[in-house]
Amino acid sequence: MGSQRSNNSTLVPGAWRPSGSEWGTRPAWLDNEQEPVSSEVHHVDVLVIGGGQAGLAVAHELHRAGMRGYVDGTDITGTYLVIDAEVRPGGAWQHRWPTLTMETINDIADLPGLKVGDYDPQDLASHVVPEYFTRYEEHFDLPVLRPALAHSVTRIDGGYQVETSAGTWHARAIVNATGTWTRPFLPYYSGQEKFMGIHLHTQDYRGPNQFVRRRVAVVGGGISATQHLAEIAPVAKSTSWYTRREPVWIESGGVLTTGREVEESVRQRVEAGLRPLSVVAATGLLVTDSVRVAREAGVFERKPMFTSIEPDGVRQADGKLWKADMILWATGFRSELRHLAPLKLRTPQGGIKMAGTAVAGEPTIHLIGYGPTASTIGARWGARKAVRELKGVLGIG
Ligand SMILES: Cc1cc2nc3c(=O)[nH]c(=O)nc-3n(C[C@H](O)[C@H](O)[C@H](O)COP(=O)(O)OP(=O)(O)OC[C@H]3O[C@@H](n4cnc5c(N)ncnc54)[C@H](O)[C@@H]3O)c2cc1C
Repeated sequence: MGSQRSNNSTLVPGAWRPSGSEWGTRPAWLDNEQEPVSSEVHHVDVLVIGGGQAGLAVAHELHRAGMRGYVDGTDITGTYLVIDAEVRPGGAWQHRWPTLTMETINDIADLPGLKVGDYDPQDLASHVVPEYFTRYEEHFDLPVLRPALAHSVTRIDGGYQVETSAGTWHARAIVNATGTWTRPFLPYYSGQEKFMGIHLHTQDYRGPNQFVRRRVAVVGGGISATQHLAEIAPVAKSTSWYTRREPVWIESGGVLTTGREVEESVRQRVEAGLRPLSVVAATGLLVTDSVRVAREAGVFERKPMFTSIEPDGVRQADGKLWKADMILWATGFRSELRHLAPLKLRTPQGGIKMAGTAVAGEPTIHLIGYGPTASTIGARWGARKAVRELKGVLGIG
């Protein structure tokens, strides 16, 4: 049975659950009903949507700028609030797969003002990072409302109306920081729906046990694909790796050196209104110890993308059928921006035209964690820049 996801333009929690498997690391809030709830209108100066690393970095900068956390019934001038769909801190990090350790992630930069601290490289990223974010929120006493899912943002006089599962909010400015984890990207290949095996996406990946004695086609040329392959190959019956382009390996002993250049090229794309490329994906493939071992074992013999999918496998570019029980799509994510659809920000090229961290021509909407700010380092400088600009535009702080 194949998986089915719909790409609804309105946010309907649960609409795109992977039906091909009982596994998954998708956020629980997609399964729970978090319908919009009408309420009397709450007013706030700046509403931050999303409480992962990007949202927390923004909250810290607002706090540092002298703004106050929202308290119902007080003077709204100089107030802010973060709303987050999760039930606990951690953003997407709490959903990372159970074999992703602090050693196998790229690198986590400190959020402004508080260090990650010591951890064992073998510790799970899904534990260490959410624990750090929890400490961070407590340390700065950041006002985060959970769970609160934003359903829609519309323009009103002097600002925006935001319908959420925790009532209606009016804000003079919006900082959107809703990440990508809830928008797995699956490219379409002809015959996909007729495949008799199981389709999985990185979002569904739970570690190698899912793949014991299976024939697994892995798709995608990014870091997730190589990490999945290195873990799966020792237990699978066979694996075959398909990418559109020849992979670029980084042999620098574990340090990514190209961050600035990558950020700059992503910035140019979003300022031209194009869809962003992932900053992390575009830094190349880091040769970690486990990747090196797998490479020496011949796991990374990459093949060009297959041309179609058949009931029992994939039809390769050389015309041969590679028999597969599972196809693992490590094909990345898109930005979660569906609640912003009423604002009609999309360009015909599918992106949002940006001017720095603000939407071009709309200085009271900033997107952090979008384009060049989609990393822990990017979230830091992006938050600083966005808050500096908002202080000027709103005359606050
Ligand atoms: C597998 C993987 C590994 C990565 N590894 C690294 C790494 O090692 N180093 C690095 O710097 N970067 C890494 N990144 C990139 C990036 O740092 C992370 O994706 C990071 O989680 C992004 O943070 P964020 O705050 O933008 O989004 P998220 O962590 O996704 O947080 C967004 C928050 O917004 C909430 N939300 C979403 N929609 C709504 C809504 N409508 N209303 C209210 N709340 C909403 C979500 O529930 C979530 O809590 C990685 C990305 C992936 C996918």
